[in-house]
Amino acid sequence: MSEQFDLVVIGGGSGGLAAAQRAAQYGARVALVEASGRLGGTCVNVGCIPKKIMWNAAGIAAALHDAPDYGFSVSVQGHDWAALCERRETYIRRLNDIYAANLAKRGIEWLSARAALEDAHTVRAGERRLSAAHIILATGGRPMVPELPGAALGLTSDGFFALRQPPQRVAIVGSGYVAVELAGILAGFGSEVDLLMRGDTVLRSFDPMLGEETLRALTAMGVRPHARALPGALARQSPGLVLTLRDGRRLQPLDAVIWAIGREALVADLALEKIGVARTADGFIATDALQETNVAGVYAIGDVTGRAQLTPVAIAAGRRLCDRLFGGQPGRHLDYENIPTVIFGHPPVGTVGLTEPAARERFGADNVKVYRSGFVPLYHALTHTKVRCEMKLVTVGEEQRIVGLHAVGEGADEMLQGFAVAVRMGATKRDFDDTVAIHPTSAEEFVTMR
Ligand SMILES: Cc1cc2nc3c(=O)[nH]c(=O)nc-3n(C[C@H](O)[C@H](O)[C@H](O)COP(=O)(O)OP(=O)(O)OC[C@H]3O[C@@H](n4cnc5c(N)ncnc54)[C@H](O)[C@@H]3O)c2cc1C
Repeated sequence: MSEQFDLVVIGGGSGGLAAAQRAAQYGARVALVEASGRLGGTCVNVGCIPKKIMWNAAGIAAALHDAPDYGFSVSVQGHDWAALCERRETYIRRLNDIYAANLAKRGIEWLSARAALEDAHTVRAGERRLSAAHIILATGGRPMVPELPGAALGLTSDGFFALRQPPQRVAIVGSGYVAVELAGILAGFGSEVDLLMRGDTVLRSFDPMLGEETLRALTAMGVRPHARALPGALARQSPGLVLTLRDGRRLQPLDAVIWAIGREALVADLALEKIGVARTADGFIATDALQETNVAGVYAIGDVTGRAQLTPVAIAAGRRLCDRLFGGQPGRHLDYENIPTVIFGHPPVGTVGLTEPAARERFGADNVKVYRSGFVPLYHALTHTKVRCEMKLVTVGEEQRIVGLHAVGEGADEMLQGFAVAVRMGATKRDFDDTVAIHPTSAEEFVTMR
């Protein structure tokens, strides 16, 4: 016998929770199945939230370092990493409980089990069988580990959050945003960091200015970048780990190696093949503009689709899908253009829209005009440490519509959201010029560029 619902959601992370709650608000009978025993998924438990807390802490370390330049006499007695992590985890447990309470409040049935598909309208969750007209797959992803000897001796971002003391010497393998963020945090805490990049720089899928400046800032913090550094083997020898690169270079002794080489879809347990759900070449669940898979009644949202793997994207996709399925809003779906994103480096990166090369490719080099500004923010006028800010506007056509807006520098994280609204609304350079600046800020450079 199976239990009947209007919607079954597999995965209690950002996307799954948002979809389940939106459907329940419309009166749908909803069941949500989560395998890990705690709600919130990657973002809450091993992603955005603990990462931002560690980023804040590294930022405080930097401020303490700068304090004497502002006249303070500071004597730091050390830092209790374990205590910080304990407070962080307590906060996260509170979030887990809030999510459970929210589900209960909306009458959503939460099952703690690993779910698998039985057919296009039935899910098995432990001993229970749940049937519904609609099934949403929101199972997210997991960090990839390379296939090489000794790889299991290394950590992933999940393992980073389990560390109860900071590694003194650490190698981070990767050049995407997770690698950059972890490198900045650990360097901020005083770890010796080696950063192993596949190519010559970091953040290669972003505007080139952002990678260049981020790499410069990391290097200024003491991070040692290694270009074209492909790992070959990892071994434990006294007094620490030895990481051998494919070209023979060796890094040793290391207290930790962190693999930050990307994430893969978490689908192994879902039995997708049973009902023939199609996957992309990279193993993600293939979806169309409406988040539909190739099987009627089965949808996928969030990281498991491999599209713009960010929490607000998973949430927006889930909510819009349920607006469409249960809220009488036909055609409602998430537009994946102009999604703003921040990389919590030191300094942070904020970016929305097209990179300069992508704009030239799409609109033709002659139709693209780029404005740039680079400066040392006022905060650093007095500090020994000088962290630069670099900004770029990418405009198109005679009316100079802004199709890309990029910044790396203090405050870029908080300044981006409002500018993202303007870009989405089709703002032109003239609109920016006609906006009165806020002085003295870094953000004002975006409306005063020549
Ligand atoms: C280190 C790190 C930092 C990040 N920082 C940011 C950031 O600053 N900003 C941002 O926007 N994004 C950030 N992200 C990305 C963000 O965490 C993800 O985009 C987001 O969590 C995706 O949500 P989701 O619902 O698709 O999947 P998840 O949140 O991963 O949720 C999937 C859930 O499904 C469950 N599940 C899997 N298989 C099954 C099954 N068979 N049965 C039942 N349950 C199952 C899992 O246990 C999990 O709880 C970060 C990610 C990482 C790793």
